[in-house]
Amino acid sequence: MDTPRGFNLLHLLSHSLLLLPLLTNSKTPPIQDEKSKIISRFQQYLQINTSQPSPDYQKSTQFLLAQANSISLESQVLEFVKGKPIVLLKWPGSDPSLPSILLNSHTDVVPSESSKWVYPPFGAHIDEEGNIFARGSQDMKCVGMQYIEAVRKLNISGFRPKRSLYLSFVPDEEIGGLAGAQKLASSDVFKDMNVGIALDEGLASPNENYRLFYGERAPWMLVIKSTGAPGHGAKLYEDSAMENLFKSIESIRRFRASQFDLVKTGLKAEGEVISVNMAFLKAGTPSPTGFVMNLQPSEAEAGFDIRIPPMANLESLEKRIAEEWAPTSRNMSFEFRGKGIPHDDQGRPLVTATDSSNPWWALLEEAIMKTNGKIGKPEIFPASTDARNFRLVGLHAIGFSPMANTPILLHDHNEFLNHAEYLRGIDVYVSVIKAYASYIPPRRHEDSRDEL
Ligand SMILES: [Zn+2]
Repeated sequence: MDTPRGFNLLHLLSHSLLLLPLLTNSKTPPIQDEKSKIISRFQQYLQINTSQPSPDYQKSTQFLLAQANSISLESQVLEFVKGKPIVLLKWPGSDPSLPSILLNSHTDVVPSESSKWVYPPFGAHIDEEGNIFARGSQDMKCVGMQYIEAVRKLNISGFRPKRSLYLSFVPDEEIGGLAGAQKLASSDVFKDMNVGIALDEGLASPNENYRLFYGERAPWMLVIKSTGAPGHGAKLYEDSAMENLFKSIESIRRFRASQFDLVKTGLKAEGEVISVNMAFLKAGTPSPTGFVMNLQPSEAEAGFDIRIPPMANLESLEKRIAEEWAPTSRNMSFEFRGKGIPHDDQGRPLVTATDSSNPWWALLEEAIMKTNGKIGKPEIFPASTDARNFRLVGLHAIGFSPMANTPILLHDHNEFLNHAEYLRGIDVYVSVIKAYASYIPPRRHEDSRDEL
């Protein structure tokens, strides 16, 4: 199953004719003209409806391959799962013995309720302030296109990479990434790529600091269930299913408040605490008009979305769940409908080093600062991204989306990115790619040269 399938490039040329920039104007000066072409290409990518649950991957694949073709990148389409294409582009480095650079982005976006948007979510409308409105403008078609535009600029400037540079465009991140990044990271193709560092998505920053992420929280989807003798709605008795479930909910709520307080008081960042949110509550005896009101039911259950930072003590959380949240002594049981791993196979927190043991971190910071970008403290991503798949195979992976002075609108109505911030992000990637693709580690020993 893990066999890549080729793609007919000739077939694409006919499509690329449809992608000619629409904003060119013979009277505009050359720089403006180039900028409007860049924005127009971003708009074209945003206008492809790759919304879950039925993303148009055929169109996005055609578009990306045409882009690759226009900047002379090598391209292939990998389909580990039928209908779930991974577009893999390569800019070969002059020294193939050096580990490569991977710039990853996902092509799918979350659904949108278009009636709640000021402009249509796939219109990529630009308002008078230069804000580009579209689903995916922040998460994360911006980053995918910025990679391409940065390569285009570098290519035109005559830059040639020492390390090979890969751009991967993966499907289905928004539904867990099983058919996308996970398959890619565990494939033979990936081993042959000899990746040294992977960049993936981050988050917008409402202030002037860019945000860099060195790890992420793992999701545990917990369902707790209680059982008890049914009884008349008027009777007070011990161990009813509802009463037992409520004791658990109270305990969970106290825990949630204690974690939230750490964030509110500024002692910890959002990604550093365990979040618990109730996702569903299921109980009651149905009747034709709703629920039977004078009966205490014999079963009740509740589901919780729990997010666990890599440094959390899993044993103590497991103990808390078994002893306080769903104890058998209160006729309760629990199960996980999904249990992410915040640790590596040695039981260590699954994070990318931010100290001198990882030269890629400092290189990234320097490259950003060279463009006058400011950077906040290293952070743990509060939700999940594809980066965990790369960390799980032992790679350094850093989450970064160059969006400063931008409200965090991923998965929200009216997602937008300002065109100036988008253009600035391209220059940041130009600087990052230059630094990364040229990096040669200092030779400590003659044969340690290929370590990084
Ligand atoms: Zn995303």
